[in-house]
Amino acid sequence: MSNPTQILILGAGYAGLMAAFRLGRAAQGKPITVTLINNSSIFVERVRLHQVAAAQRVRAHPIPRLLRGSGVRFVQGRVTRIAAQPQQVHLTAPEGEQVLRYDYLLYALGSQTDFGRVRGAQDHALAVGNAADAPRLRERLSGLAADSTLIVVGGGLTGIETATELAERYPALRVRLVTSGRVGEGLSERGQQHVRKVLARLRVTLHENTPVQAVEADALVCANGERLPFALCVWAAALRAVPLATDSALATNERGQLLVSPTLSSLSAPNIFGAGDGAAFAEAHGVPIRMACATALPMGAQAADNLWAALHGKPQKPFGFGYAVQCVSLGRRDGLVQFVRRDDSPTERVITGRLAAFIKECICRYAAFSAIAPWLATNYRWLGQNAFSRAHKSTVVIQS
Ligand SMILES: Cc1cc2nc3c(=O)[nH]c(=O)nc-3n(C[C@H](O)[C@H](O)[C@H](O)COP(=O)(O)OP(=O)(O)OC[C@H]3O[C@@H](n4cnc5c(N)ncnc54)[C@H](O)[C@@H]3O)c2cc1C
Repeated sequence: MSNPTQILILGAGYAGLMAAFRLGRAAQGKPITVTLINNSSIFVERVRLHQVAAAQRVRAHPIPRLLRGSGVRFVQGRVTRIAAQPQQVHLTAPEGEQVLRYDYLLYALGSQTDFGRVRGAQDHALAVGNAADAPRLRERLSGLAADSTLIVVGGGLTGIETATELAERYPALRVRLVTSGRVGEGLSERGQQHVRKVLARLRVTLHENTPVQAVEADALVCANGERLPFALCVWAAALRAVPLATDSALATNERGQLLVSPTLSSLSAPNIFGAGDGAAFAEAHGVPIRMACATALPMGAQAADNLWAALHGKPQKPFGFGYAVQCVSLGRRDGLVQFVRRDDSPTERVITGRLAAFIKECICRYAAFSAIAPWLATNYRWLGQNAFSRAHKSTVVIQS
């Protein structure tokens, strides 16, 4: 009897779990093994890491339990290398080094906080975007004396969510939000006004147009010469892909994302597919894809379906997608729902206040359930899904 076909999925975030459930169901009863590899045995809802930092109870989802009955095998381990010839993945598992063979690979290792080239940032700031840092942040915050200064660096959505969450949770702290441009630049005028109103209500001091040059043990050094002392600094400036694709000599961009075709297959190897924060289109294709679970989920679904099609020599579908809203939490009692066009550009329509906070919570739950509930994952549909099938009338077959 010949060896079963091996499908490896790297990363059990939003994209990887979505793909695992779809491929697991498709492979049931066939001589195909689907294996999901992740460094932790818990699914981390990254969209809630600022809530973890703020000492809120966030549910832990053990991956082996989620996968029960799905037909997917789980391997806990940190992937250290992807080899193309022979087709193997190397990993460090709790029981030692392992090498797994693959016929098809789905790369969904996600992203991590980007400290840029700012001197001292990695040494003296904690990153809200890194799962390992969020509990450390929680501990450091709970030990801070009243009137201590907390600095959040980054005026994008993650920085705004972090600053408001922590200011609401720890009203005795002096919270500063430092950003190289303006706060919430991608939002509409009305959206920005609401964010500013909430930041002012929570007594968060803004330092806009203030690029950070260096981070010292107890102060930020800004490009304008200003020194901003802190008791704790939280880095929320940007994300970049984990470096594994680049380290494995696969084609990547400057943010370390695996470069993929419109059907989400790697430019380096047609039997490797990419999805989520860790992948990006090599050429402009449809709307610009930002790192978000809103894009990771549909990319995971489409990459899984195309991998399955490739395995069976069937046509693959170019990825189609459109945005509808950006949802921002502003603490637990306020929020912003920013309506956007399909290309993610903001309109002047917004929902604010408690209703927006409620909508944001519903969307976070829906995103998590889409990844962890097998029924939802296997039936998942999204906005703009068929845009390219209709536009081009044809689909793409990539020979492996
Ligand atoms: C505080 C915060 C708030 C956010 N809010 C929103 C929001 O409101 N809306 C939104 O759309 N997006 C939001 N995002 C972004 C969103 O969380 C990410 O875009 C999303 O998690 C990407 O999903 P993914 O599956 O690509 O990667 P991830 O969710 O990062 O999953 C990748 C998985 O791979 C694992 N992994 C990484 N390296 C290795 C390795 N070498 N070996 C084995 N396993 C590995 C990781 O542990 C992880 O489990 C937010 C992010 C943060 C940090």
